[in-house]
Amino acid sequence: MIPGTLIIEITYIIAVVLFILSLKWLSSPATARRGVWAGEVGMVLAIAGTLLYRGIVDYKWIAIALVLGAIIGVPLGNVQMTAVPQRTALSHAFGALCVTLVGTAEFYLRAPNVQPFMMSVLSLEVILGGLTITGSLMAAGKLQEVLPQRPITYKGQNFVNLGMLLVAIGIAVRLVLHPADMHLYPFMVGIALLFGVMMIVPIGGADMPTVISLLNSYAGLSAAAMGFVLNSKLLIVAGSLDGASGFILSVNMSKAMNRSFSNVLFGAFGQVQTAAPGAVETRNVRSATPEEAASILSAANKVVIVPGYGMAVAQAQHKVRELYDALTKRGVDVKFGIHPVAGRMPGHMNVLLAEADIPYDKLLDMDEINGDLPQTDVALVIGANDVTNPAARTDTSSPIFGMPILDVDKARTVMVIKRSMSPGFAGIDNPLYYLDNTLMLFGDAKAFVNSIVRELSGGSGGHG
Ligand code: NDP
Repeated sequence: MIPGTLIIEITYIIAVVLFILSLKWLSSPATARRGVWAGEVGMVLAIAGTLLYRGIVDYKWIAIALVLGAIIGVPLGNVQMTAVPQRTALSHAFGALCVTLVGTAEFYLRAPNVQPFMMSVLSLEVILGGLTITGSLMAAGKLQEVLPQRPITYKGQNFVNLGMLLVAIGIAVRLVLHPADMHLYPFMVGIALLFGVMMIVPIGGADMPTVISLLNSYAGLSAAAMGFVLNSKLLIVAGSLDGASGFILSVNMSKAMNRSFSNVLFGAFGQVQTAAPGAVETRNVRSATPEEAASILSAANKVVIVPGYGMAVAQAQHKVRELYDALTKRGVDVKFGIHPVAGRMPGHMNVLLAEADIPYDKLLDMDEINGDLPQTDVALVIGANDVTNPAARTDTSSPIFGMPILDVDKARTVMVIKRSMSPGFAGIDNPLYYLDNTLMLFGDAKAFVNSIVRELSGGSGGHG
């Protein structure tokens, strides 16, 4: 092996190790920052190694592409946290566009003498790449509300979609057997692009994060297929890591949202679940003032805070940190119960609470905290709704039946901060609010938590 090639191979091996470590470290908030660094260094090494490749005849176009990529990429990296799902979708679209263009160039460089194996992986690459480009653009458009969020469905939709996919696969098979039929190639790519659009049409905007992680998986698999085409072990490994992690994330999200994964795979899910008319009850609830809430909290020994989408909307995380400090100072044991799909994207609550410097060891996953809730004095729900809805356990007619929830109703007292009796994402009433041990704290999450903190700091302090 000549030294230049050896250097590239070593650089690639280090990059792959860093990618694997990055995924490992990203799985815990305590090591996530290190994980981001490892991923970034790995990517820089992968790019540097590729730029050393002897086959490069001219750096001019590469330099132009790097500058263009930076001009697009830098603003994309600075979006609001609530826009991260659509930003991620755009990244997948760019990645898939690259894969599809490379695949197309490779096809026309080799055609009509494309070996069967090569044609199979090339077809896989451009079909997955093509559907990911348009699917991701559609997903980003729905999330950004430049396209209607509402799912559009029609009779026989799955049949039409599946038919389209089968036609693309059929063309791929034909090309594997008869690569000289080059005129069929653009149809295969075109149908894949159209399939990407049609796949997203029936899915509601708020369900898009699950779809985006699935598209992430498709983009990874298409990159792995490109690795076979280009004979690049780095791409095969990196693409497989991407494909597998995106797939696992989609499965976990479907489970946490009680979606059937087969529905996700066939793009037929995401009918926005709406409440039946009159489903929001008019029964009386008990409400309390910030003063009353503060006195109940300061008399508690154990408090579990359950944040949700409303905390993110109100940007209340820093006030929640102040509340955590005020209670901890009084000797109250405060923990956070994190539901895997609280908020609107995976890890939404972890990121917000980490931003407010809440110690990582106080953030407990649903499975860990549920065992503690029956011994908890106060469960303080801040802008969470569906993820605490006991109907998911008992009401077989509920659209969220079967979704695992945080068992806040088992705490001695439940206090819920939200502005009104409006439902959450699933559009259904929450029986939690009518229980004898529940107190509603009506108001904006940030303002209400602030009032409680003020009461606590003005009060005499200490608890029995
Ligand atoms: P929900 O959407 O169920 O409820 C949020 C609650 O926050 C609402 O009931 C709303 O009530 C309240 N709220 C809104 N704004 C404020 C505010 N400024 N101050 C106080 N409260 C506010 O959120 P959850 O986090 O409990 O559940 C997440 C839901 O989203 C689940 O159904 C999940 O399946 C779904 N989902 C999650 C994804 C993820 O990846 N995390 C992705 C896609 C969907 P009110 O208007 O009365 O204030």
